[in-house]
Amino acid sequence: MRFLFSKPAPSLPDTIEVENENGSYTIRLRRNERAKRYILRVPTGEKLPVLTVPKGGKLETARDFAKRQIGWLEDKLEKRHAPVSAGDGNAVPFRGIPHDVLYSQKLRGGVQLLKSEEGQPYFSVSGDPNNLSKRLVDFLKKQARQDLEQAVDRHAKTLGKKVATVSIRDTKSRWGSCTSDGRLSFSWRLILAPPEVLDYVAAHEVAHLVHMNHSPDFWQVCTQLAPHTPKARRWLNDNGARLHRYF
Ligand SMILES: [Zn+2]
Repeated sequence: MRFLFSKPAPSLPDTIEVENENGSYTIRLRRNERAKRYILRVPTGEKLPVLTVPKGGKLETARDFAKRQIGWLEDKLEKRHAPVSAGDGNAVPFRGIPHDVLYSQKLRGGVQLLKSEEGQPYFSVSGDPNNLSKRLVDFLKKQARQDLEQAVDRHAKTLGKKVATVSIRDTKSRWGSCTSDGRLSFSWRLILAPPEVLDYVAAHEVAHLVHMNHSPDFWQVCTQLAPHTPKARRWLNDNGARLHRYF
């Protein structure tokens, strides 16, 4: 008796855990029938490292491979993806400028934007110390909404276009989007970037109200609204991924 189909590859778990003396790491397994060998990567914007398992690859071999690479993995995770928590003493960029985050013993007051005696800006966050990050993120989202609404308003007026809604999200893959009926949405993380970058993304989405594509005509409108378009695009290209490291 012959089978028409080749034997299915043995199923793999979604993730494996590997550990060394420093701790344990969760790695996502991804079978790729075209891969020739095992490959471990730390993809930008993804939470977990990914181990590609080639055709016919086995769980035990994958685990051994990951174990041999653990030093490299550790190094990579530390350098490229170390999340910056908003705890005491960690600087967080706000409108492109690093701000220290200090915990205030006061019970009330929420988040305040203050300046040290040397003129260094910082965030003072009060309340339950366990909710520091959440409080600061809520504050940053509010500021992002304010800046983005202002920029959208200004650009829409220039073009004589109407915007239906502006929403603020935590999108990983795009900084902004626009529907044909004028609903714009943006990543709140743009408030971390220099103001001209936020302004460019606002101009970009507003320009889509004129051209729903990325044609030369579109870029002309976008650059007319935001002359710093090329510079801002370069900045996002070089630094955008870094903005996802916070919180
Ligand atoms: Zn676009």
